[in-house]
Amino acid sequence: MPATIDLTDPSARPRHPSSSMMDDGKPVLVGMSRDQLIAAMADIGVPERQRKMRANQLWHWLYVRGASDFADMHTISRELREKLDHRFSIARPEIIEEQISADGTRKWLMRFPPRGAGRPVEVETVYIPEEGRGTLCISSQVGCTLTCSFCHTGTQKLVRNLTPDEILAQLLVARDRLGDFPHKDTPQGAIVPAEGRKVTNIVMMGMGEPLYNFENVKTALLVASDGDGLALSKRRITLSTSGVVPEITRTGEEIGVMLAISLHAVRDELRDELVPINRKYPLSELMEACRRYPGLSNARRITFEYVMLKGVNDSLTDAKELVRLLKGIPAKINLIPFNPWPGSAYECSDWETIETFADFINANGYASPIRTPRGRDILAACGQLKSESERMRKTDRLALEAMMIAGHGAD
Ligand code: SAH
Ligand code: SF4
Repeated sequence: MPATIDLTDPSARPRHPSSSMMDDGKPVLVGMSRDQLIAAMADIGVPERQRKMRANQLWHWLYVRGASDFADMHTISRELREKLDHRFSIARPEIIEEQISADGTRKWLMRFPPRGAGRPVEVETVYIPEEGRGTLCISSQVGCTLTCSFCHTGTQKLVRNLTPDEILAQLLVARDRLGDFPHKDTPQGAIVPAEGRKVTNIVMMGMGEPLYNFENVKTALLVASDGDGLALSKRRITLSTSGVVPEITRTGEEIGVMLAISLHAVRDELRDELVPINRKYPLSELMEACRRYPGLSNARRITFEYVMLKGVNDSLTDAKELVRLLKGIPAKINLIPFNPWPGSAYECSDWETIETFADFINANGYASPIRTPRGRDILAACGQLKSESERMRKTDRLALEAMMIAGHGAD
């Protein structure tokens, strides 16, 4: 049975819940570049010769030590810590709920205070432990403007883009909760990699289209990959896009992370229906952008995601066309068994069909792992995320459970 920890119970909350601190007009230091931190030091009267050193200290405390309270920064004088606390925020968001799947997958629902006018927003982040690695699936937006017909998030209107600190907060909270910062304990019984870091990889595959929030995603990922801080290698960060062609080259040039494309169909006619952004940027333009992706090589392949929809895109003809389409592009193909959600119009392909499809593309020289659905019991699998502002009605939850028991899923 999946476990749910109700973090609205004060005794279960982390030590520094955000309350509404970021709501009180204080600028947030998390997510600032070093130059912005230096400017922030100038703002509070730190003498010029000390600013760079102070910015480096803050960087270390925030990203190496995982501090979420200025009071812990004991290498900084008390006077300056108080000044910082008075003027800036580094508080974590409130964690409303933590769910733990039977397979060790964890899902956190976090609440971020309003930015400017508007309401607080709720965001889901998922941690997927595997042998030797731990992958964090991060959201870039609340809701999505796109309406891919098989995606649960796509049924929720865009509420807003997440800011760089909100994107980073998802990583910081996960590392807090998993004991992945120095001097923090891993919860007893947690399923995490046996050695080394608990979060080894991040994928921008949560809610939203990251390339429709390019600047904020870029800022956050450059902080996450900074070698003196969170230090995630860019090869262990994957950004998934439904195909926002104009931003694909910029992703390679300006962020330099690994690219995943939500392909799902090999003919424009079908892709127009499944991934409607295809009407704007058809397959020919998408493939051209992939061919030109900066840094592309056999060691740095593009991942093509392909959701297996029964009777829709899973024939051998589709597999052949897929191989033809990807010719000449260093690629991996990730087959994703469709994850059902209440009201979805599709079914997952039969297991034999998925295997036949995988065998064919494999025989044609492509690695074609079938993504094992993870955390389905807590609705944490691909495409099942939808923020709690539109929390599923109980009847829908029951309907979903019934669908899974009836074996509509692939596992
Ligand atoms: N918006 C981005 C990233 C988030 S979606 C994108 O579309 O790429 C992450 C992945 O999950 C995408 O490949 C998406 O197509 C896939 N997905 C969405 N709904 C799904 C579902 N119900 N079952 C399986 N995969 C799904
Ligand atoms: Fe948005 Fe991606 Fe879902 Fe499409 S698959 S609706 S782009 S989150």
